Amino acid sequence: MQNRNIQWIPTGQVGVVSLDIPVISFGNKRPKIIITSSVHGDEVLGLAIISQLVDYVETHDIQGTVSFLLAANPAAQFFGQRVSPQDFKDLNRLGAGNARGYYTDRLASTLFEFLCDYDFVVNIHEFEMHTPVTTFFIGAGDEKVQKKILQGIKAFAPEIMWVTNPQNERDVQYQNTLDAALAKAGVPSFIIETVQLPFITERKINQVADGLINLMAHLGIVTAKNRKNTNSETETMKFYRNEITTDLAGFWEPRKLSLFTPIKAGDTIGEIRTLPDFEVHSVFSPISGTLIQLRHRQLVGTGSSIFSIGVKPES
Ligand SMILES: [Zn+2]
Repeated sequence: MQNRNIQWIPTGQVGVVSLDIPVISFGNKRPKIIITSSVHGDEVLGLAIISQLVDYVETHDIQGTVSFLLAANPAAQFFGQRVSPQDFKDLNRLGAGNARGYYTDRLASTLFEFLCDYDFVVNIHEFEMHTPVTTFFIGAGDEKVQKKILQGIKAFAPEIMWVTNPQNERDVQYQNTLDAALAKAGVPSFIIETVQLPFITERKINQVADGLINLMAHLGIVTAKNRKNTNSETETMKFYRNEITTDLAGFWEPRKLSLFTPIKAGDTIGEIRTLPDFEVHSVFSPISGTLIQLRHRQLVGTGSSIFSIGVKPES
């Protein structure tokens, strides 16, 4: 049984409520890896993964340190929201933050400083749409750190790797993520994205947990024994992600399409019944590629994302 240590990182206070971040750590040497959950307060899937990893590190020898940061945005989590109602700023769009700014700027700064002491950082997020086990490679930082990130992603073995497209204006915002700030500071870091906790299968939870154990093995923290990479034999599929948003508001019903279905421009992806007339409007894909995300049956508003088409990068 490993020794474990629980620490609380103070980030501020509202009224009499302290906003402290709990971190549970096993081991005390280098190399050090940290897995974070809930940078967005409504994304708690990381805890399902961390539950498995805590059980694993408690019962295996580790050479180094494994830490889990359980709630990166405690005020947002308190309200079950993506962002904190203190200032409504997105913690994952503030880079390294600002210790003299608004609450979320300060939170970003505190987190950034804390995470900089680690040799590898993984931030677990979730998407509202059905999504395969995805790692997001932002491409920030110098060649050396990018190489470490890509090797880490290879060890983790996601189903797909989403890469930023320099031609896509919407992708520019990701240069201000916490992960991009860490990479620029020389700390390898990547984001894991999956579907939301209520929709994820047992198999996918295990796949993410196994992938993270393989990443720990790659860093020399655990010995990879009897663990096989579900996806490591094949080259990870890389995609630019084209997120399609709806012009129409109403009740969205997707077609029964599996993720990874090849899509041609003009193919029907689902239909929207506008309200209050319940008129049926087919929704077509504007581009060709691979279906990599699909929103489940839901009431959607103007501009809601409803599906994403992956397109292979040129090289
Ligand atoms: Zn998120």
